[in-house]
Amino acid sequence: MGASTIRKVEDVLGLLEGAYGKKRRPPAMPLLDHVLMATLADHGARTRTRAAHKELTDKFVDGNEVRVSSSSEVAEVLEPLLGEHALPAANAVRAVLSALFETLHELSLEHMLTKTAEECLVAFGKLPMLNAESREVILLHALSHSTAPTASNALRVVKRIGVFGPNVSGERCRVELGEILGQADLLSLNVLLFHHAETVCVAKGYDCTRCALVKRCDRGKERKAQVAAVAAAKASRPATRSGASSRPAAPRGGASRSSSRSGRAAAGKKKGGAAARKPRRAR
Ligand code: SF4
Repeated sequence: MGASTIRKVEDVLGLLEGAYGKKRRPPAMPLLDHVLMATLADHGARTRTRAAHKELTDKFVDGNEVRVSSSSEVAEVLEPLLGEHALPAANAVRAVLSALFETLHELSLEHMLTKTAEECLVAFGKLPMLNAESREVILLHALSHSTAPTASNALRVVKRIGVFGPNVSGERCRVELGEILGQADLLSLNVLLFHHAETVCVAKGYDCTRCALVKRCDRGKERKAQVAAVAAAKASRPATRSGASSRPAAPRGGASRSSSRSGRAAAGKKKGGAAARKPRRAR
């Protein structure tokens, strides 16, 4: 593997981390607890998420007891920490737990750990109650437990960037990137590439001009050059007076068919005009 490939992969990771932040494996705990913490954070416990979550786990037997309790009972537990946010947070936590239970018929998300990133996306489609933070944590956990090949949408980005060539397989990509970065950074890169593929470098209609990777991306540079060439061609066209046609003028000494036809029409109009102005004879 060449030094330029290694440099490129490291640069891509750095640029993606600059755009989206570093992604590291979250602390090991049941996925449901991550979901509850993310829900609390969304509803007023941004700075006291951990404490609010601890309060719930200390005062209730498990998630199911939170689900079947009333919102005011849950809010009472959260109130000393969250004040006015306690009731909205309690409502949100109970709503998420109820929706998960109705969908999965249990309150465990651990089956997600065996899924590939793509399978997680499919599963997320059935679990719309999960917020963005919950999804990311689940994805990070699933990817860090998985030796699955690079996800196909991330592979699409890798191919466009031109790291390993257009025919690299998902499995080859995983092995090569792992050798360059090590497992911790590979996980981060996988998640960032996955996110980038879903939001910016989408399958169709992607806009390289607003992409953080454009400086290190073969496809991006190619497209940027095409855009610049089109702009230069437009700029070099001779300017036309407003209203004047940019079509070439008819050759001198021989009016074109259409121009002689329009000439006749104009003459006819003139004639008609003159006749209209002719004074009537007096009887
Ligand atoms: S520059 Fe364009 S092709 Fe390259 S990663 Fe960005 S969006 Fe994708």
